Amino acid sequence: MADTRLCGQCGSVFEPRREHSRFCSSVCRIKWVREHSAGPAAPADALAWSIAAMAEAADRLAQAAGQDLLRVGAVMSEAVWWVTIVDATMVRYEGDAYDSVLDGLPGEEARLIEETLAGLRYVRNQVGIHLDPAEFIRSAPDGTWTWNPLPEPCLESLSPRGKEWEMSRYRAYQSRLAGHDVAAAIALTSAFLTKTAWAEPPASPADVTILDNSL
Ligand SMILES: [Zn+2]
Repeated sequence: MADTRLCGQCGSVFEPRREHSRFCSSVCRIKWVREHSAGPAAPADALAWSIAAMAEAADRLAQAAGQDLLRVGAVMSEAVWWVTIVDATMVRYEGDAYDSVLDGLPGEEARLIEETLAGLRYVRNQVGIHLDPAEFIRSAPDGTWTWNPLPEPCLESLSPRGKEWEMSRYRAYQSRLAGHDVAAAIALTSAFLTKTAWAEPPASPADVTILDNSL
């Protein structure tokens, strides 16, 4: 997918490795975080809080077997919300740790995680706007919950690039989520994001100086 954008720090053109990438390099990302993280609501605090909320939502979803559709739909929707928020925050602020954890996994496992996350982004984008939470899930005979296969979305209001991203999320949903266990997708991605969050301490100003000198 040919796609270029402007670095949010230095303004140069780069090819994003991930959908949410905003910086051309880790140097620019760390500089940006340093300049924007002063004050009481530092990203690290917000991230730790979001990870706790994500883990709690994943726990509740894991206990959803046998509960009613509307309730499980609401719990699923909340879990997806937290996973996608933590994921976008990790990519934005901890892109190096994110990539190095993914790169350290066997290829098939890394692909499964990336595509499951893409499928969950599709759920987040569609839920409550085009589809009700309950339309995404169905109860299996044993009382557990699986993702419903969904028809192709109508994306006429999106730009060509936006359409392409959303279609790739839709395809990820169909191949990695549809027919599979709801709680398992949340558990897989939540475990990956938690592991990544603790993989490296947040960048300190000292790290930035070292990186700057190496340029
Ligand atoms: Zn840059």
